[in-house]
Amino acid sequence: MAVGASTVQVGTAAMWGGYGVVEKLVRGLNRYLDGKEFPDLSPVIGAALPKIVEFQEIPLTIRARARADDTCDGCLLCVTACADGGFNAISGVKGEVVTIDGAKCDGCGLCVMVCPTGSIAMVPRPLFH
Ligand code: SF4
Ligand code: SF4
Repeated sequence: MAVGASTVQVGTAAMWGGYGVVEKLVRGLNRYLDGKEFPDLSPVIGAALPKIVEFQEIPLTIRARARADDTCDGCLLCVTACADGGFNAISGVKGEVVTIDGAKCDGCGLCVMVCPTGSIAMVPRPLFH
């Protein structure tokens, strides 16, 4: 909607969670609008359009990388995710804290989403040692 749609559709979420997911979406949307003190969706629709730029203008510098902390239980879900959907930057042994290769990590954030223990955070590149 922020890029101009006045309506949207839901597919996979309804397949996974049933049609009740629509009520959840509506509640969340209403909470968002209340939080912003928007009377309706009109301030949202198209709000991001002025920020859209040509591809050549997008800064492609990688600004963040993933870092795992010692709460990692070595489930290796992130290793699979990064190997199949990221840049093969994570290695590890079952039951031990994983290692993330900062030189390979492109900052996609996929590992953060799959980690069940919240052990991975994205950190700004200049601050990582
Ligand atoms: S942020 Fe992406 S590339 Fe970097 S370690 Fe995580 S999944 Fe791999
Ligand atoms: S997904 Fe999280 S808990 Fe599992 S190995 Fe990766 S960092 Fe550790």
